[in-house]
Amino acid sequence: MATKQNSTLTFSRRAARLDGAALAAEIKREVAAEVINFTQTNNRRPCLAAVRVGDDPASEVYVRNKIRACDEVGIGSEHHALSGSTSASELLDLVQSLNTRDEVDGILVQMPLPGGIDEASIIDSVDPEKDVDGFHPINVGRLAIGRPVFVPCTPAGVLELLKRNKIPISGATACVVGRSQIVGHPTAELLLQNNATVTICHSRTQDLKSVTRQADILVVAIGRAGFIGGDHIKPGAAVIDVGMNKVTDGEAAIELFGEDAERRLSVIKKRGYTLVGDVHPSQADQIAGARSPVPGGVGLLTVAMLMRNTLKAAKMRTG
Ligand code: NAP
Repeated sequence: MATKQNSTLTFSRRAARLDGAALAAEIKREVAAEVINFTQTNNRRPCLAAVRVGDDPASEVYVRNKIRACDEVGIGSEHHALSGSTSASELLDLVQSLNTRDEVDGILVQMPLPGGIDEASIIDSVDPEKDVDGFHPINVGRLAIGRPVFVPCTPAGVLELLKRNKIPISGATACVVGRSQIVGHPTAELLLQNNATVTICHSRTQDLKSVTRQADILVVAIGRAGFIGGDHIKPGAAVIDVGMNKVTDGEAAIELFGEDAERRLSVIKKRGYTLVGDVHPSQADQIAGARSPVPGGVGLLTVAMLMRNTLKAAKMRTG
């Protein structure tokens, strides 16, 4: 367990803070430097096409953040915002045209899609060589056999957060709570490939605490505000909190945030909500050795890793 202070690790109460914001900025700087080289060598910029269907406010924010990150690192971008009444075949036509356009390196279709459009068929339609989200079955299979090309961005961010904070993975006991295809499952795969001994937990796991308490590295991605309490955590463990949940209730905020409650209450007053992960922050900070905060943890890294995948796609396609 890393307890030393380094460039991205600072102490707060007991648990060290695994600072996703600083690390995301570092990764974006690295990508930006490589984008300059790529652009000078190839006389063109890498390009990401983002597709959004409907007016889901969260999706709007996510896509806006991704386009802004492209601007920051010098990657070109296209934003295709389609109306909620778009049919599956119209969306497939757009993806097909992006697949064939040579100047487009990466394609992301923001999920969720409006009801009536089969998400799996859209994921399957993206050219695997442009699948910078890493969701296409070919890329899922490549990851499963240990020959990853595009690793899904959130799991890639989790691994980067552990590695750059020098948290030992090889030989560690790791537990991933959540088995989704976009977060839990690929995160477990990556930890295994980095020689951790990995357990995956889910909603049917019996006596969850007895499993999570064994873990030197505990990754939580379930979508339940503050669900993982101090008694789920092994003393000194590294806890990576992937969850992103809105808290609107002042009393709940006071219970969750401890010393940080006052600041969070003012955020609720201003915005109507504050974000909390799946881990109970004030309880975890008493037990864990390190914890990634929400916000300011994994979420920002997801976008940084998308930039890295888009650059990788451009390099691979250019040969
Ligand atoms: P998901 O597809 O809904 O999967 C949730 C997983 O959690 C499922 O495997 C489910 O088990 C498991 N689960 C639910 N309740 C549980 C419980 N009480 N005990 C143990 N396991 C339980 O969610 P997701 O897409 O993976 O997202 C998870 C969280 O991460 C959400 O808060 C989401 O907003 C956040 N997220 C953040 C980022 C980021 O960039 N930071 C990216 C993606 C997602 P079953 O399989 O048995 O149903």
